[in-house]
Amino acid sequence: MEIANKSRTRAIIAQYEFKFKKKFGQNFLTDANILRKIIQAADLNKDVAVIEVGPGIGALTEYLARAAGKVVAYEIDAALIPILEEVMAPHAHVEVIHEDILKADVKSMIETSLSTFKEIAVVANLPYYITTPILMGLIEARLPINRYVVMMQLEVARRLSAEPGTKDYNALSIAVQYYCDVNIAIHVPKDVFIPAPNVDSAVVVLTRKSEPPVAVKDEAFLMELVHACFKQRRKTVLNNLAAYFEGLTKEEITTLLLEIDIQPSIRGEALSIEAFGKIADVFYEQIKNRG
Ligand code: SAM
Repeated sequence: MEIANKSRTRAIIAQYEFKFKKKFGQNFLTDANILRKIIQAADLNKDVAVIEVGPGIGALTEYLARAAGKVVAYEIDAALIPILEEVMAPHAHVEVIHEDILKADVKSMIETSLSTFKEIAVVANLPYYITTPILMGLIEARLPINRYVVMMQLEVARRLSAEPGTKDYNALSIAVQYYCDVNIAIHVPKDVFIPAPNVDSAVVVLTRKSEPPVAVKDEAFLMELVHACFKQRRKTVLNNLAAYFEGLTKEEITTLLLEIDIQPSIRGEALSIEAFGKIADVFYEQIKNRG
């Protein structure tokens, strides 16, 4: 019987006397229908290798093993390792690594274990308490990962996919959309998990862009500036930038913004990535020229 149903999940938990740890964001999937949709969204075949974050007792891993050429799964909880070794024994191409994904050297792992595959996908039901650091860490590391198909809180999914001018649009939307096209693929209700989380979930597909949407002089500076412009959401870009650039007067900032046709009274939430790109470059030049 598959792992992903409520009675088998309960039986495995009882057999190994497994205790759920809230601190690790453990909500195990028990619904074959959702898993089939995740596999479909991930567009897997035997030429694709998958990196899974947090396999739990292997509900998703089992589906990934059937569809992909190889699965490397990082699990932080030592209590889950013997369970995974047993349930994954029939799948020789599944490798479980007992490590915190935030500390793991994923780049070296890819070079040694996955370099022969045509594509690499991250597919995961993420631990919600660290969705952003996991995603941003992997995306910004510029690894050869083609797509991410990841379950997260619906609220975070909305932020990642938000358009300028909407209430969900923030610095994270821009940081993610700079690197990836983002689509919410599946809405997931609470009752398909054991234990049920407090919030609704969604599966998001992030596909790596071949080119960033704007060419800027310094990407790290662009991201800093975006964060600065959203620091106080209700403040104008002028006021947020004045707080950020202590060495520039409001008049100087206003002049620079007007030079690139940006109204100083606008708020960060109304600006596109392209507009942020222009702001980043004009301020970068100014700062560099001052030494
Ligand atoms: N994939 C399983 C499923 O869908 O049933 C479990 C998903 S559960 C939401 C998140 C999993 O991530 C848990 O197994 C948890 O122990 C693991 N986890 C939490 N923090 C982690 C970290 N920093 N590194 C690796 N795994 C982690």
